[in-house]
Amino acid sequence: MAGKKSSKLTPMMQRYMEVKSETPGTILLFRMGDFYELFHDDAEIAAKILGLTLTSRDKSSSKPVPMAGFPYHSLEGYLQKLIAAGHKVSICDQVEDPKAAKGLVRREVTQIVTPGTLTDDALLDPKESNYLASVCPTNDSIGLAWLELSTGRFYCMEVSRENGELPPQLGSSSALIDEVARIHPAECLVPENCKNDETHKQLIEYGQTVLTERPTWSFAANQCREILLKHFGTATLEGFDLTEEDSAGITAAGALLEYVQETQKSSLGHLSRLEPYRRGTSLLIDETTRRSLELTRTQREGKRAGSLISILDQTKTPMGARLLLDWLSNPLTDKPAIERRLDAVDELTQDSKLCRDIREKLNDSYDLQRLAARVATRRASPRDLGALGKTLSLLPAVKARLAGRSSDLLQTLEQRIELCEDIRADIESSLADELPITTTEGGIIREGYDSKLDELRDLARGGKTWIAQYQAEEIERTGIPSLKVGFNKVFGYYLEVTAAHLSKVPEDYIRKQTLKNQERYITPQLKEYEEKVLRAEDQSKALENELFQNLRDRVADECQRLQRTAETLAEIDVLANLATVAVQSNYQRPEITIEPVLEVVDGRHPVLDQMQPSGEFVPNDVMLGLSEAGKDHQSKNGDNDQLTLDRRDLIALITGPNMAGKSTYIRQAALLTIMAQMGSFVPAKSARIGIADRIFARVGASDELGKGQSTFMVEMTETARILNTATSKSLVILDEIGRGTSTYDGISLAWAITEFLHDQIECRTLFATHYHELTELSKTLRQVCNWNVAVHEQDGDVVFLHKIVPGAADRSYGIHVARLAGIPREVIQRSAVILQTLEEDHQDDHGQVTIPARETKGARQLTLFEPEPHPVLSELQGLKLDEMTPLAALQELHRIQGKLK
Ligand code: ADP
Ligand code: MG
Repeated sequence: MAGKKSSKLTPMMQRYMEVKSETPGTILLFRMGDFYELFHDDAEIAAKILGLTLTSRDKSSSKPVPMAGFPYHSLEGYLQKLIAAGHKVSICDQVEDPKAAKGLVRREVTQIVTPGTLTDDALLDPKESNYLASVCPTNDSIGLAWLELSTGRFYCMEVSRENGELPPQLGSSSALIDEVARIHPAECLVPENCKNDETHKQLIEYGQTVLTERPTWSFAANQCREILLKHFGTATLEGFDLTEEDSAGITAAGALLEYVQETQKSSLGHLSRLEPYRRGTSLLIDETTRRSLELTRTQREGKRAGSLISILDQTKTPMGARLLLDWLSNPLTDKPAIERRLDAVDELTQDSKLCRDIREKLNDSYDLQRLAARVATRRASPRDLGALGKTLSLLPAVKARLAGRSSDLLQTLEQRIELCEDIRADIESSLADELPITTTEGGIIREGYDSKLDELRDLARGGKTWIAQYQAEEIERTGIPSLKVGFNKVFGYYLEVTAAHLSKVPEDYIRKQTLKNQERYITPQLKEYEEKVLRAEDQSKALENELFQNLRDRVADECQRLQRTAETLAEIDVLANLATVAVQSNYQRPEITIEPVLEVVDGRHPVLDQMQPSGEFVPNDVMLGLSEAGKDHQSKNGDNDQLTLDRRDLIALITGPNMAGKSTYIRQAALLTIMAQMGSFVPAKSARIGIADRIFARVGASDELGKGQSTFMVEMTETARILNTATSKSLVILDEIGRGTSTYDGISLAWAITEFLHDQIECRTLFATHYHELTELSKTLRQVCNWNVAVHEQDGDVVFLHKIVPGAADRSYGIHVARLAGIPREVIQRSAVILQTLEEDHQDDHGQVTIPARETKGARQLTLFEPEPHPVLSELQGLKLDEMTPLAALQELHRIQGKLK
């Protein structure tokens, strides 16, 4: 049957079916002439996504083949859409010149494009890394590797797993989820058959990544190691500082490399090292914390705008933007390393001219990192190589400007800039000033670079001059003033004579074509020249292509030098950026300490500070942790073994009405710590920040129902992680924890959690809560203090001062929102009475709460609001302001206030 069927296929379709079977799971774009064609299911899928017209091949047969296509030069745009829709795409090109082909033109898959293996600039976000990750479970841990193919950065690590399921199952591993959330890969390879895993689901949800299943055998340890050794051309991996300890990570890296080799089908010379990623050198920020602090995107809309990075990023180069993102995602924990960065930023803030000059230069830089990688994979276009040369030409000025700086890091960077003069000279001497994107159409190589090429070009051009001359001669000879030499693809050059002059056509003209008002002729002489000209043109284009390929190969050999230079430029860009932002937004250099303190004077939330009109954001202080006094006291007594805490507060309970600024305040503390540890100045008058090893931010009862667990379960699981992993060096931010259950449950839990943090962990904690009861804790726990957000009440109006002051909040804050919404005064008063009763715990013997009767006439039923709740109040109640980020809450409140007016 099958044989019969395939024998009916044309040779072209037979080749199509072959290629199709070699590229399962992808959409195949099959080059036919000037078009990419799609058939069968691919055509149907693509027609929908790309808005192409679905036609059919073989219409006469009983089973016509669905077909769609688009012109080859629009590949980029269509590819982008297919990838964005989550597809993988195989591109099958004509790999020989159709003119030179005998029979069917040879077609091969030249690239498989997947979300994690993009290298084309048009498909990439310049400001974000595009990682491919790979996850490999072993018996006692999980290997993780990640690679950015567009730059060549390649890492691996190992994380722990939490239960004993056997590979290929991933089991559960929150450490894995945290790392994947940090890396944020576009695509992640997993062994097949782990679909039912909890972790599998979480990878998709929290990692926001496309999972690609790979055969389990492709994660075989020995084979994976071999693939790496072969690629790097080394006998061991020890040169990369990888040891036996890293074996799971190495396996993941090998499986990843194999996939890249399979999909790219090109040289991968820019993957020159595999770096072990060591935890402990960077601040641990788990997935939930990352999300809730909105470091790189907002929680609600997942957008960059409104996140911390959007405030901090004014970098001038794409590689700088990506490195900044990297610094923000991996703040440091090593004091000297942090200070090295701060010193450099400091120096640049002091010398604004230097900073400006450097940024001006960088402004003209292209994405050297990705350009270098495209050169190495031989995908760089002539224009790419030109951009690379232009970027290299900026280096001398940048280097000169950095010379003689005093900070250690700036000095190191200055030394690390390699001018790459040889590469630049090679590019500049060979490439033309204006460059095309294609390599086959000429216009690439500069005049005077290659004498053979110059000769061919002269001939091609000379031929054209000759034709103009020939036309003039023929006009004279024949006396036909309108005689013209024309050109088309079918006949090549011809002589055109209008109907009026046909009688004057000489004998030696050979008629080729008759049109309505004219005839077209050729002559042997014309044809002879035509051939020469066209041949010269073809030959010169081919030669240009060859010269370009040679140049690209030479530059590719120097790829590592270019990569190092790109990384250096990126770092200079980031430092100059941090200095610029610091000056612009009035940030100060934080003092970094080992002692776990958090002392901030007039701190501001970096994002809200920028979003609100200048001067409107109310700065606040934080004073938490060990004091210098306590330390001095101990050293004087010669007791240095252990730092005991003095009476300084360690845990702050922050109370205050809704919308007062509690969430803003506690997040601000976490954001300032992260900024300081990444090497940035901070929005504050002054700050002394003790290095944190981990930061935890938890928001109670956020709406996680869609993610399959009850809100309260999620809240408690997350809290459990803090209690199990926080250390005395950690910073914990709790926002309304314990709210996902009944009031008394919630209070009891929050109470016990605070006690535990106080007694067992002793870490800096900021706890925003509406459970007024918790403020009692300060009476029994030595290091717990109460702070609240000042509110000014006047004539029944509430004015938020957003100022954090000592003491517990006024008890009636729960009802201020009703007042704000315009609820009648009696209702407010009545609800205050009921509230008081509830809070005072008027329970009878059966545990029933008795609400005192109302003093007004008659009615005795318990109604809080009569006759109907105010519509705005019910809207306010439905809002869950506490679960929103401060920015979102502000927007909502403005919306509702607008309605009241
Ligand atoms: P809470 O958690 O107490 O309900 P939020 O922290 O969510 O309050 O803050 C509510 C709104 O108040 C924010 O959207 C913000 O616009 C504003 N706000 C908060 N803190 C300040 C501040 N220090 N200065 C000015 N406005 C603030
Ligand atoms: Mg809040």
